[in-house]
Amino acid sequence: MLTPQIADKGVTRHILKAFNLHASHRLGQNFLISPGVVRAVVEAAEIEPGDRVLEIGPGIGTLTQGLLEAGAEVTAVELDKKLPAVLAETLKGYEHLNVVQGDILKTDIAALMGGAPFKVAANLPYYITTPILLSLLEQKLPITRIVTMVQREVAERMTAPPGGRDYGALSVAVQYYTEPEIVLDVPPNCFLPAPEVDSAVIVCAVRQTPAVTVKDEKLFFRVVKAAFGQRRKTLSNALKTTGASKEEIGKALDKAKVDAARRGETLSLVEFAAVADGLTE
Ligand code: SAM
Repeated sequence: MLTPQIADKGVTRHILKAFNLHASHRLGQNFLISPGVVRAVVEAAEIEPGDRVLEIGPGIGTLTQGLLEAGAEVTAVELDKKLPAVLAETLKGYEHLNVVQGDILKTDIAALMGGAPFKVAANLPYYITTPILLSLLEQKLPITRIVTMVQREVAERMTAPPGGRDYGALSVAVQYYTEPEIVLDVPPNCFLPAPEVDSAVIVCAVRQTPAVTVKDEKLFFRVVKAAFGQRRKTLSNALKTTGASKEEIGKALDKAKVDAARRGETLSLVEFAAVADGLTE
């Protein structure tokens, strides 16, 4: 380490004080103060020297330091205008770091990262976890692996199998594009300030091809959205919001061998794909 570990609680406190920083609740700022968790995230990211990593929300550089120490070339996008100057100090001496000030949801990631494969690592701001994950996946960027800290509850939704309360549009999207796995539970006292919720580190290994083949991907996701948009309705009713007629829906469900009285939350990805394909015809 060129500098003391930022993840050390005393070091983090010192940095916050020295730069007169106050963790912003609005920006979802809960800084990691656990060197063990930083190590676990870096390990889960399977960083090899020279790996290109996009970090979302580097904060004061806690996870960034772990990634850089493992030999990654890090591009870090941070919304808080005060933090690039802080990072220039806390990560002084590290090469292979590019800090970009901006909103990740408005950043042209394809232009920023170029066409070569890269990984994503982040301790995500919890107020926009889902939009960030969905946008990363839907843009079809050359991402190979996403390792993120998320709310435990969100991690459960991402990995949920069909049938339960946690299974929803996020589960289908994440499982369509990736193989998600929860690798670590992280209690609130690993952060400063401590969040009110439990957290988890989740690894999403991006699939070379989606989990199921569909004729029309947009329609597939419209079907999923419709099915979960009205969870209490039967599929045949819920699917009306896709714009299909009752007759078309009936035919599609028949063809997919899915009972019209079932609810969306019981359908597997394969069944959603079969229903969507039935509707394209
Ligand atoms: N990576 C640091 C750590 O682990 O200690 C900070 C993590 S903190 C949970 C989330 C970070 O995301 C904060 O630094 C916050 O300012 C930043 N952030 C919030 N919204 C953002 C956005 N839309 N785009 C980029 N960064 C954002």
